[in-house]
Amino acid sequence: MGAHMPAAGGLHKAILNGKEIGCTAVQVFTSSPQQWAAKEITDEKAEAFRKAREETGIEAVVSHDSYLVNLAATEAALRKRSISALAGELLRCAKLGIPYAVTHMGAHKGDGEEVGLKRLAEGAAAVLAETPDSVSIAMETTAGQGTTMGYKFEHLGFVIEANKGHPRLVACLDTCHVFAAGYDIRTEETYNEMIEEFDRIVGLDRLRVIHVNDSMRPFASRKDRHAHIGQGEIGEDAFRRVVNDPRIRHASLILETPDPDEMHEVNLKRLKSYLSA
Ligand SMILES: [Zn+2]
Ligand SMILES: [Zn+2]
Repeated sequence: MGAHMPAAGGLHKAILNGKEIGCTAVQVFTSSPQQWAAKEITDEKAEAFRKAREETGIEAVVSHDSYLVNLAATEAALRKRSISALAGELLRCAKLGIPYAVTHMGAHKGDGEEVGLKRLAEGAAAVLAETPDSVSIAMETTAGQGTTMGYKFEHLGFVIEANKGHPRLVACLDTCHVFAAGYDIRTEETYNEMIEEFDRIVGLDRLRVIHVNDSMRPFASRKDRHAHIGQGEIGEDAFRRVVNDPRIRHASLILETPDPDEMHEVNLKRLKSYLSA
């Protein structure tokens, strides 16, 4: 259980600062998420990262890819660029010993979901073909803003199926996004329905990361705005269920809530307080 940690002062700092505030799992950007160009992970940086993990005992580390990646882009050149950017992300992860790269996959930009999903599946296949087995693509469920895909579990299921159940296609479930996308997780019953549906369509064995974020926007708004745990539209009952659900215990829980410097520690304490003894 942990948080997305800023990497100011070096990637290893994300791990060390995470430990400081009580993380046992950490998410990082291996490059600037707003830029195509990525700085190389030197041997020195990789070594500092490895050492930080060893010192802190934080084994569960995941990365989040650049926001620019769109495997379903209309222009072929942009799709190609996205494939190499995501492949680059996986290669940096391999060098850092990170097993999962979380990605939002893409938006069809008006070309329609059918075309878009095919492009996602082809893009994923291309990325998998040029990257090592040690890193998996963790497709993230989205809120479905604009023409973004991934707001239905079926979208992830399609990409997995189109790639014949490729073992390196795994998933990241974001509580804020699924709620915004129309999966009501506020009651025990509807939460269970959501988990069962995910299992049926994607498979809980593929669920490796859970982004634990409350939602500033109402149910089914298709808007992606994260709120502090228990202070948004989802409310704390759902998070109590998430942290205590044995069906998803194998996944890393990662906070992506606002004001990381002041609030990650507070939100993490809140999540831990929900754990039943
Ligand atoms: Zn997320
Ligand atoms: Zn989000």
